[in-house]
Amino acid sequence: MLSDTYGRVATDLRVSLTDRCNLRCAYCMPAEGLDWLPKPQLLTDDEVVRLIGIGVERLGIREVRFTGGEPLLRRGLTGIVARTAALRPRPELSLTTNGIGLARTAGALREAGLDRVNVSLDTLQPDTFQQLARRDRLADVLGGMAAAAAAGLVPVKVNSVLMRGVNDTEARDLLRFCLDHGYELRFIEQMPLDAQHGWRRANMVSAQEIIEGLEQEFMLTPEGPGIRGSAPAETFVVNGGPARVGVIGSVTRPFCGACDRVRLTADGQIRNCLFARDESDLRDALRAGASDEDLAGRWRRAVAAKLPGHGINDPTFLQPDRPMSAIGG
Ligand code: SAM
Repeated sequence: MLSDTYGRVATDLRVSLTDRCNLRCAYCMPAEGLDWLPKPQLLTDDEVVRLIGIGVERLGIREVRFTGGEPLLRRGLTGIVARTAALRPRPELSLTTNGIGLARTAGALREAGLDRVNVSLDTLQPDTFQQLARRDRLADVLGGMAAAAAAGLVPVKVNSVLMRGVNDTEARDLLRFCLDHGYELRFIEQMPLDAQHGWRRANMVSAQEIIEGLEQEFMLTPEGPGIRGSAPAETFVVNGGPARVGVIGSVTRPFCGACDRVRLTADGQIRNCLFARDESDLRDALRAGASDEDLAGRWRRAVAAKLPGHGINDPTFLQPDRPMSAIGG
C-alpha cells in the first residue's frame, strides 16, 4: 500500500503523458508556451506501462487517470491505455483532456479500455475561448465532448476554471449547457500553478461565489461528505436531480485530509502532492536496472513523506517549481 504518516492511502494515480499542450490557457501557460521536456527525458511507452503496472500490481493503485499537458498529443496513448486496461486487478481508467482531437480518437480509446473522460471547457463563447485559451478551437472541444459521449466514455465530466473579468459571468450558462447534454460539470478554483506566477488570491473566483452565482438560477442540494469520499469536488444535486454539479475549492476549501492521489510526471518523477516541492525520481533508477520491488520501495517512501496539507493558505507558501502542465493536472 502507498500510505503516509497521516493515515492516508494513495489509490488514485494521475499519469502525465506529456508536458506539451495545444492550448495556452491564461491560468496555466504563457502565450508563447514553455520549454518542453526533451524527448530522452520522457518515459517511453514501455517505461510508463511498467511503472503503472508496479503501482497497480504491488502498491494498491485502483484508478489511473491519464493527463498532461495534453494527453491526446501522446502518440502511443491508445496502446498505453490498452496495456493498462490489461493489468489485474483492472484499474478504472480515465483521461483529462482539452477535447481537441477527441472526435477522432474517442472510439479507439473506448475500444482500448478507457472508461471515461474529463474535458476542460471554460466558456461557450468563441471570442472568450480565443482570449482565454489563445486558440480558436471551441468547436473542436464541443465536437470532442459529443464524440466521447457517443463512444460511451461516460459520464463525460466537464472541468471549468473561472477567471474574473474573463469568463466569470458564464457559470450558469455552463451548467445549463451541461444539463442539456447530460455532462457532469465541476468548477475548479484557480490555483497558484501557472508558469507565469500570475495567480492572485483577490482575483480568484471562490467556491462560495460560484455556488451563490449558480443558486440564482438553480436549486442546489449538497450531497454531503458521505457521498464525496476522497473526491475533490463538493457535489450538489441540481433542481432535485438526478443531475449534479461539483465545486472543487482547492484553495478556500482544501480537502487534503481525504486525499488519495499520487502523481507520475511524464519524466518519471513521483509527486505526492500537486503542490509538493520535492519529487522522487523513478526514471533514472528504472533505466539503471532497478527491480520492480526496488522501484516499489522508492515509490512507497515518496508517498510516506507526504505533508498533511498543500499549504497554499500558509504565509510561507511557495509555488512548486513546475507549472500544472508539467506536473499533470
Ligand atoms: N490538457 C488537459 C486538459 O485541458 O484538461 C489536461 C491537463 S490540464 C493541466 C488539467 C486541468 O487542470 C484542466 O481542467 C485545467 O483547466 C486545470 N488547470 C490548469 N491550470 C490550472 C490552475 N492554475 N488552476 C486550476 N486548474 C487548472
